Amino acid sequence: MKKDYDVLIIGAGAAGNAVASKIGNAETLVIEKKKIIGEPAECAGLVSKNCIDIMGFKDERFIQNEIYGAYIHSPEGQEYHIGGDKLHAYAIDRGEFDRFLAEKGKENGADYLLGVRVERVARGEKGITVKTKGEGFECNLLVGAEGIDSITRRTFFGYEPEEVLFGIGAEVENIDVDPRNVHVFFGNKLAPGFFAWIIPTSRKGKSARIGLCTTYPPPYPSKKLLHNLLNYPTTRPFLENIDIIKVIAGRIPLGYIRESAEDNVMLIGDSAFQVKPVSGGGIYPIAISSKACAVTIEKALEEKNFSKRILKRYHEMWSSKLKKEIVLGMWVRRFFNKLKDDEIEKLLAYLKREDVIETINMYGDMDHPSKLILPLCRRIPSLLSLLPRFLTLF
Ligand SMILES: Cc1cc2nc3c(=O)[nH]c(=O)nc-3n(C[C@H](O)[C@H](O)[C@H](O)COP(=O)(O)OP(=O)(O)OC[C@H]3O[C@@H](n4cnc5c(N)ncnc54)[C@H](O)[C@@H]3O)c2cc1C
Repeated sequence: MKKDYDVLIIGAGAAGNAVASKIGNAETLVIEKKKIIGEPAECAGLVSKNCIDIMGFKDERFIQNEIYGAYIHSPEGQEYHIGGDKLHAYAIDRGEFDRFLAEKGKENGADYLLGVRVERVARGEKGITVKTKGEGFECNLLVGAEGIDSITRRTFFGYEPEEVLFGIGAEVENIDVDPRNVHVFFGNKLAPGFFAWIIPTSRKGKSARIGLCTTYPPPYPSKKLLHNLLNYPTTRPFLENIDIIKVIAGRIPLGYIRESAEDNVMLIGDSAFQVKPVSGGGIYPIAISSKACAVTIEKALEEKNFSKRILKRYHEMWSSKLKKEIVLGMWVRRFFNKLKDDEIEKLLAYLKREDVIETINMYGDMDHPSKLILPLCRRIPSLLSLLPRFLTLF
């Protein structure tokens, strides 16, 4: 195996593979500690149609189901429906998705080294030295795509996420749900600080991914969180008699990172906290930032210049598309974290109004929730009365 590469990517998750699949004319190595890419998958696998369009790959191997709308359940059991008008999202098999992207990376010429953990990264003669157990590699450019516990971020940047979410869920069968709609459940006894979900993964509604997120560290042990998910008054009617096939759990880093490029180094995906704070979705940000990353790498290779002056363009490019949603999303989270169940109940009760639903259906965008703020405030002027409370959070 070669020891010397133009580009070395740590992590064959969605971010690392997406970059490997997009860079041309580079000798690239991807190092992944798992023996099988994408296993275990720590993801609910709900992505917008827009995300798949931007990613540029759509394949039956990973698309499991089409999602048109959502049922929203309040803490006390009111049910509201939004969407239903058009195809909004896909349920994807996250393991298959990562493996599909890795195949595209290999077709693009990248070498893959699986089952090998990177233990140390440091500046070296060529640019960066990457050490695994017993082996060393040199590269001009290191892409840290190794997720929340990124060695690259901790070595070269030192940032930590502003907030971390903990998610737990399961792949289930023997369920009977409307296959075209997801369910979203609110309630501080169910999912403190976030929400729970049911995502139908088959076109007949007989299998699904269920789960919830809460702030990290979680207020209860995982077993109790799962027990609550199965037994909360609003979720239980959907989850009686289901078969749990596989349990999934993971952490999600939130916050805006001020720098994601240094001399010879870039960060992408969870390692750069590129996640939508309101939904915990990280795949759409990867679709955006992997393009920016690949374009910048190509420019650096062309100019044979891997300095921060060239690479910081990557940070500017993805920030111009994602920063606003991340920063506003963090504000919304700080506000939402403080709401009691009766306050959530009151806010959701606006969904009884047809004009509010119309506004949501017209302006709602799962990748850009901020687009809804002004139209909603115009429809519901009393929302502006929350503003002073919102501002005290800063
Ligand atoms: C419960 C849960 C549900 C979620 N649901 C959704 C959802 O529905 N939609 C959505 O868009 N997002 C969702 N997310 C978020 C999404 O899963 C992440 O944002 C996404 O996985 C980030 O991809 P990544 O490639 O940056 O990191 P990862 O997927 O974490 O990949 C990093 C890879 O690097 C490897 N690695 C780490 N360290 C090393 C090392 N030292 N050496 C070698 N390899 C290493 C890891 O093994 C891993 O394969 C969810 C997350 C969780 C936890």
